[in-house]
Amino acid sequence: MSETRIYLDNAATTRISDNVFEAMLPWLKEGYGNASSIYALGRKSAIALNKARSLCAETLGCESREIIFTSGGTESDNHAVFAAARAGAMTGKRHIITSAIEHHAILRPLERLEREGFRITRLPVGTNGIVRPEDLQAALTDDTALVTIMAANNEIGTIQPVARLGEICHERGVLFHADAVQAFGNIPMNVRKMNVDMLSLSGHKLHAMKGTGLLYAAKSVPLSPFMEGGAQQGGRRAGTENIAGIVGLAEAVRYAAEHTGEKAAHLLPLRERIIEELSALPGARLNGDRDTRLPSNINFSFAGQEGETLVLKLDLLGIAVSSGSACASGSLDPSHVLTAIGCTHDEARSSVRVSMSEYTTAAEVDEFIAAMRKILL
Ligand code: PLP
Repeated sequence: MSETRIYLDNAATTRISDNVFEAMLPWLKEGYGNASSIYALGRKSAIALNKARSLCAETLGCESREIIFTSGGTESDNHAVFAAARAGAMTGKRHIITSAIEHHAILRPLERLEREGFRITRLPVGTNGIVRPEDLQAALTDDTALVTIMAANNEIGTIQPVARLGEICHERGVLFHADAVQAFGNIPMNVRKMNVDMLSLSGHKLHAMKGTGLLYAAKSVPLSPFMEGGAQQGGRRAGTENIAGIVGLAEAVRYAAEHTGEKAAHLLPLRERIIEELSALPGARLNGDRDTRLPSNINFSFAGQEGETLVLKLDLLGIAVSSGSACASGSLDPSHVLTAIGCTHDEARSSVRVSMSEYTTAAEVDEFIAAMRKILL
């Protein structure tokens, strides 16, 4: 089997960074106390937990009690959607607005709510992959319980005008949630400035452990618990806290926020170089807005090609990227994101996503471009 030498699939997951690893180590071995125990070993864990919570809160610009540690982006998204739906239903509000290009961690819970009688509006996006604020304005009704729109898309990297969308929601007194799993660490983020009531983050996209994440929920949000059980996290998320994971997550959040500008400065020229070079290849079409996209993201379709085949050919050369199609139950389903921006099924199936991290080097980018030329010319 070939080795992956060049990793360009950081939107799928990231390696654990040295600073996160170092921060977690003491809590994996000697610091194993349960944060709910009242003796010294437990109290130490509780202190670490509180510190991690304050660090995340300070970084996001909110209060500690507004942070709930979760098992990742999927749980954070599910919690936000189901809690807002439950609160809405209690006051007769059974309408939720989202976009057509959300992650399945949002779309699937909404499908369930739809089966249970909620009305779901899925806002279209233009061919650039961006939601139009005027479409949101027009879709809001008196019974809208929640608007949930991602800060940046995981496939095409397009950045949504979150602060404006949040402002529109607040003018109508509607809760606004943003999935910032892909955006955080790539664009500066402060929950107050973004006008969000809830925000989802995932640790493993930020060089922390898989199975870690958080949900910011403003104290004004009527948030029912997602999981019932113990009284951990103020009763809002039962279950013994994963101290090592949480400490690592907080370190990743701190680091990512502090280095957002530096990371963008490093990645933008690399992104531009890839876009320029891949645009010259036969049948190339850039997916998503040319400029309003994450510095780390490039997504191309290549007419007449099969994305999965390109991924496998690159894999043989030691390069990891992903394709825009998900292989589900033996059939290649075209991505709902790519079809939403107007790609035909064939175009959607011919896509390749490159997602970089701060560890991506210019030499790696050169080798990736050379590999694409070798495969396609
Ligand atoms: N939301 C977005 C935009 C994502 O890209 C992902 C993961 O790919 C998730 C949610 C789910 O996050 P997790 O893998 O931490 O459950």
